[in-house]
Amino acid sequence: MNWRIPLADIDFGPEETAAVQAVLESKWLTMGSVTQEFEQEFAAFSGARYALSVSNATAALHMACLALGIGPGDEVIVPSLTFVATANAVRYVGAKPVFADVNGYDDFNISPAEIERCITPRTRAVIVVHYAGYPCDMPRILEIAAHYGLEVIEDNAHGVGGELEGRQLGTWGAIGCFSFFSNKNMTTGEGGMLTTNRQDLYEKLRIFRSHGMTTLTWDRHKGHAFSYDVVELGYNYRIDELRAALGREQLKKLARNNLRRAELTRYYRETMQELTPAVTIPFEHHPGVSSCHILPVLLPKFIERSKVMEHLKAQGIQTSIHYPPVHRFTAYRPITNGTRLPLTEDIARREMTLPLYPMMKEEQVVNVVQELRGVLAE
Ligand SMILES: *Cc1c(COP(=O)(O)O)cnc(C)c1O
Repeated sequence: MNWRIPLADIDFGPEETAAVQAVLESKWLTMGSVTQEFEQEFAAFSGARYALSVSNATAALHMACLALGIGPGDEVIVPSLTFVATANAVRYVGAKPVFADVNGYDDFNISPAEIERCITPRTRAVIVVHYAGYPCDMPRILEIAAHYGLEVIEDNAHGVGGELEGRQLGTWGAIGCFSFFSNKNMTTGEGGMLTTNRQDLYEKLRIFRSHGMTTLTWDRHKGHAFSYDVVELGYNYRIDELRAALGREQLKKLARNNLRRAELTRYYRETMQELTPAVTIPFEHHPGVSSCHILPVLLPKFIERSKVMEHLKAQGIQTSIHYPPVHRFTAYRPITNGTRLPLTEDIARREMTLPLYPMMKEEQVVNVVQELRGVLAE
């Protein structure tokens, strides 16, 4: 499809090309000095003590569960209105995901009261997702976690650069997991990052990233070591220098691009309020600073969403759904038998995501909203 207004678009310039070319010319392609610089810069940016880059956020989530010692017999509370990777990570380590409902029609984030309702003697952790980059109620969630002795993992795939009470998303819980997939606020194609303030967790994560080995090819190339031991059943979840180089350039643009996303989101709110008030945008007066990753809207009840999406598609406007709820997937039926999440299920039926990217123009926002108004009037 040649979309006139795509759902997302990447901000790449000559800087990214030059950075990747420099890596190619250096002939050191696997994890090395560029990766180290990327990690240091990401830690400084996020305010986390440690940052560890990985091959993608799914690997980051898996490693977070491993590092916290979650395993068979354990339960982990997760939202269902998320990408399937959030829950899959729990299953990779043999634990059981337990799905909690969201706050409401204006707040699609996991509900603290629902988290509390889902706690059993087997609950070990909670994975929160800052939906669209709008902060979860972290003070309340950390309070509950402390009270019941639970760990908190942040799936911050949407929220890079977002903040709550001056503290960046991804640095509230024990471990933060970031995605640099192509449609995220900063991208390396495939790629991800882990953040933590705890040295013990950082050491474990570092070991799990590379086969449980105590030294790496880079250490041996630098003459720091000749051999290694394997101390854990680890994985190959490494990033590479080409992606780290892309990540460094993308990180420089992130703050500016997030501001532009916020500006466009405000403009969408105003325009929709005026032209099609029956369609609502959640998180209207939400605390903190959102990374404005996507623009979700809630269609009125009894509107056939697929018809709306078809009409917009015919106009060259790409839309999406965030998300088909995880607990209803075929691969999840056997473990979620009987799980009912009324808010999540209703929102998942009526949610539609509109185009949003830093280079988008105000006229395009108006155009999208006008087309939306047109199809709803029919
Ligand atoms: C994109 C995304 C992921 C997975 O990220 P990858 O880097 O593609 O593995 C996980 N959780 C959420 C909420 C996401 O949006």
